[in-house]
Amino acid sequence: MELEAIAAEVRACEKCGLCKTRTHAVPGEGPADASIMFVGEGPGQKEDEQGRPFVGPAGSLLSQLLLKAGLRRPEVYITNIVKCRPPGNREPLPEEVAACRDFLTRQIAALQPKVICTLGRPASQTLIDPTLSISREHGVARTIGGITYVPLYHPAAALHQQPLQPVLVEDMRRLGPFLKGR
Ligand code: SF4
Repeated sequence: MELEAIAAEVRACEKCGLCKTRTHAVPGEGPADASIMFVGEGPGQKEDEQGRPFVGPAGSLLSQLLLKAGLRRPEVYITNIVKCRPPGNREPLPEEVAACRDFLTRQIAALQPKVICTLGRPASQTLIDPTLSISREHGVARTIGGITYVPLYHPAAALHQQPLQPVLVEDMRRLGPFLKGR
């Protein structure tokens, strides 16, 4: 299956410098027929240790947020724009995002999701619009090439900036009926 083939390539990938500092690459996970995809920025420490996406504190918050939208985590596909952890959780560099982009493009092509929720500015600017402002455009859906994209704050940002949590909860609650209808 294509998603498994992509995951095997990711685990062996040395296309950018992040391969030198990773413990495990994190290809992504979720059902092959998921109609909703969540795309974050990159693996954190826990994700790097376990080779699975969103398993740390931000992952716990994401699971809670999914419930606000009436979704369960096993229903959605979750990945990141770079599959290996940037050291110290820094933002991925443009050349790292570019090197990894083909994996994400192929995952999207394999899944053919109806909706892609981008988590945080880097993922939103990579997949939706390089000039996108997450503070102005969070929760606002737009359709590109037959896929509906919804930029959201990253759960990790909401953990560090408490005022963002109710905003993210409200976006997820408001999107719930829309996402569930997909
Ligand atoms: S971040 Fe992406 S391109 Fe870079 S080594 Fe990991 S899988 Fe390869």
